[in-house]
Amino acid sequence: MLLQDNLKQAKLGERITAKGYAVSHKDDTFKPFSFSRHALGENDILIEILYAGICHSDIHSARSEWRQGIYPMVPGHEIAGKVVAIGSKVSKFKVGDFAGVGCMVNSCGECEACKKSQEQFCERGKCVFTYDCLDCFHNDEPTYGGYSNNIVVSEKFAINVPNDAPLDKVAPLLCAGITTYSPIKFSEVKAGSKVAVAGFGGLGVMALKYALKMGAEVSVFARNKNKEKEALELGAKALYTDTKGVRERFDFIISTIPTAYDVNAYVNLLKFGGELAIVGLPPVEDKVKIDLTRLVFAAGKKVYGSLIGGIKETQEMLDFSLKHKIYPETEIISVEQINEAYENLTSGRAKFRYVIDMASLN
Ligand code: NDP
Ligand code: ZN
Repeated sequence: MLLQDNLKQAKLGERITAKGYAVSHKDDTFKPFSFSRHALGENDILIEILYAGICHSDIHSARSEWRQGIYPMVPGHEIAGKVVAIGSKVSKFKVGDFAGVGCMVNSCGECEACKKSQEQFCERGKCVFTYDCLDCFHNDEPTYGGYSNNIVVSEKFAINVPNDAPLDKVAPLLCAGITTYSPIKFSEVKAGSKVAVAGFGGLGVMALKYALKMGAEVSVFARNKNKEKEALELGAKALYTDTKGVRERFDFIISTIPTAYDVNAYVNLLKFGGELAIVGLPPVEDKVKIDLTRLVFAAGKKVYGSLIGGIKETQEMLDFSLKHKIYPETEIISVEQINEAYENLTSGRAKFRYVIDMASLN
């Protein structure tokens, strides 16, 4: 019934009604939430969401761990679904196609960064994030993410997904996939590279898989041995639970750690000229700091931050992942299990990626 309503609304150019799961303040638990999205514009598509991954960024945002969040908040930026309506000027999709949406839904399209398809760095500050953001293209209304039944998005920001792709596996690629693929490409990880992955959760396991695919030898750093078996079975050389006493040195390290930790310990583990890509973004109050003295004395090693990836590269990542069957490790849950999933992800009981089956919303 709801889908029929949405199709009618799309046709009439009305706002699109939606339902999802939201928190209304930083200490809240998720509860059902009804809202509406902007009308379908001529360049927009309406997607019926089938699966949404739970990224640790959703937890940081829902709990206002980076900055004060915009509430009510419907997180979710790992979205896979079916195109059910298209605007009059849409050319990339037709009704019935499958589509993915990651962390962004719009940007200016005209600045240098946007022209290079690095939309996440839109120089006019107009990159609209999928949730917890004010949409400057739609009267500054708040954006709502993928823990919901539908989304309206500019076609440029939707990723083409082939009909036969496993949609529950595609969803997490839209953030966990691109966020790890992008720096691995940027740092030119290749056959023979010695790589370490710090933090072995939703992002970490993707980093392991991509680095292995590039031909690298990969070690994993985790807090305990809980997932050692999985790491070794997937092809890791070793799983370390401490940086101390590790003798090998790495060409490339990617840190996906979402909590307080000693970054400098990973700088020390780089070879001369080696690169440390930071993607994990701990809460501001964890005050993770780089020690400049140690950095200067570690001279010749490079440390950089990396933020998701542009739309062009996201499509490239998805095509690459599907071609080589590089998929996330997932556990499908229902909307009622979101609160439990959050608890598990923050208490070390989670394995890799929870993916919400949106059919459970009905
Ligand atoms: P997960 O919770 O799935 O995984 C994090 C992993 O890190 C867990 O396995 C956790 O272990 C492990 N960990 C925690 N502390 C340490 C530590 N001190 N040493 C080693 N391992 C540790 O999170 P995600 O993979 O979804 O996200 C990771 C981070 O990346 C988050 O901060 C998220 O916000 C950020 N992110 C950044 C993006 C970007 O564009 N830069 C995009 C997407 C996410 P345990 O199970 O024991 O808790
Ligand atoms: Zn994410």
